[in-house]
Amino acid sequence: MSPQAVTVAYLASAVLFIVGIKGFAKPDTAKTGNALTILGMLIAVAVTGLVAFSATTEGLPFVAGTIAIGAVIGALLARSLPMTAMPELVGLLNSFGGLAAVFVGISSYLAPGHAYTTEAERNVHLVECWLGVAIGSLTFTGSVVAWAKLRGTLSGKPLLFPGRHLLNLALVGATIGLAWPFVGEASTDAGLTWILALTAITGVLGITLVLAIGGADMPVVISLLNSYSGWAGAMTGFVLQNDVLIVSGAIVGSSGIILTIVMCRGMNRSVLNVVFGGFGTEGGGPARKVEGEVRELDVAAVAAALSTAKEVVIVPGYGMAVARAQHPVKELVELVQAHGGRVRFAIHPVAGRLPGHMNVLLAEAGVPYDLVHEMETINTDFPKTDVVLVIGANDIVNPAAVDDPNSAIAGMPVLHVWESALTVVFKRSLGAGYAGVDNALFLHERTRMLFGDAKKTADALVAALRNV
Ligand code: NDP
Repeated sequence: MSPQAVTVAYLASAVLFIVGIKGFAKPDTAKTGNALTILGMLIAVAVTGLVAFSATTEGLPFVAGTIAIGAVIGALLARSLPMTAMPELVGLLNSFGGLAAVFVGISSYLAPGHAYTTEAERNVHLVECWLGVAIGSLTFTGSVVAWAKLRGTLSGKPLLFPGRHLLNLALVGATIGLAWPFVGEASTDAGLTWILALTAITGVLGITLVLAIGGADMPVVISLLNSYSGWAGAMTGFVLQNDVLIVSGAIVGSSGIILTIVMCRGMNRSVLNVVFGGFGTEGGGPARKVEGEVRELDVAAVAAALSTAKEVVIVPGYGMAVARAQHPVKELVELVQAHGGRVRFAIHPVAGRLPGHMNVLLAEAGVPYDLVHEMETINTDFPKTDVVLVIGANDIVNPAAVDDPNSAIAGMPVLHVWESALTVVFKRSLGAGYAGVDNALFLHERTRMLFGDAKKTADALVAALRNV
């Protein structure tokens, strides 16, 4: 392939990535967007393969075999994992991106026959290798810790050892400071020692940074690590002089940062506060005790309330995903509409376990997009709402975020469901949600609990509402 053809193909890939990502903004264009980005990636991989093996086919069977094995494992993993385990998978995939950047950085440094024309060119290449390895190693270990925290192998509690800020500062200082002797080193063997030391230093930094971050902040951390893996990829692109890798790495890096900021706003946190960890464990007094009477309602009574309600809002949460209750919920919508009520969905930005989790489930069940509203647009409507159905949600409807300054989730914007005339909560117990914070909503005077698995309860409610 001529260099011009390669450039045009890479440009086409980059355009496909950008147009595809733009499609993700709306549910009705998301599928096309996904197809376009897949096409962009296929072109990028095929052209890179053609360029790499046009001169010599040495190593081709090894590379092709590795790609085939990786593709089969990836496809099997993605197909078999439940939607609720997606953040874990994303965490693990970020770690692979980081590890790849470490390998590429070190092997590019060691590769013989670099024909530098100037000293500056050599220095730039070495700095690229250094940065790629540093970001890659931090991303690798940080993502592995985040993955272990998400799947419960490591405790979700922040590990705050004394002097951790000083240690982190020393590690960052060493990362920057050791670049000088590395770049100045004439012997590759000695340089290898420096770059391996860098791998260890930034690897430890990734571990200490993420260990200090609490479970409730993990979604933001995963998004931030995703961004780091993008920057590591972009650095690898510079090392390998591969334009499409630079562009796609920069897209992942910057979109990860944007998502991180959006999620931090959704939880009323600053990015720095999340990154330096320890949220909810330092200062302040004890969180308020949740006490009071639990009031229950049976399925028939909820069906009766829904049959006369004019304004109904449904708040889905993680429990709806676990129970896979979205299909009967969609039937509920149609039945309430048939009884003359207006039904809308209120979506919290961090509902479920991954960004857009609820939107994906509702789209899968065929809920019309115009019924689905973001938190900001619907949060002031609760006082005018007759019935709110909270389906497997907990943290995102916890009033402690608003009225208990000592709560671990104080300041996080939540859906004000308690302002409605009647709130019915579908869950199996009074147990806490992801953030581990008790919820006074369940004891509120206008709240009624409908205990049980959300799918079974929603199925029963559909049957009851059909007969009202
Ligand atoms: P929560 O985790 O706060 O609560 C979910 C509730 O669902 C639980 O209290 C549980 O109660 C209930 N539940 C579980 N299984 C069932 C079932 N089969 N039937 C009925 N109920 C069930 O979820 P939210 O969506 O309210 O909040 C999301 C939380 O997750 C936030 O803290 C957010 O920060 C965090 N997070 C978000 C991510 C994101 O990107 N969106 C990623 C990772 C974490 P019970 O056991 O009593 O049934």
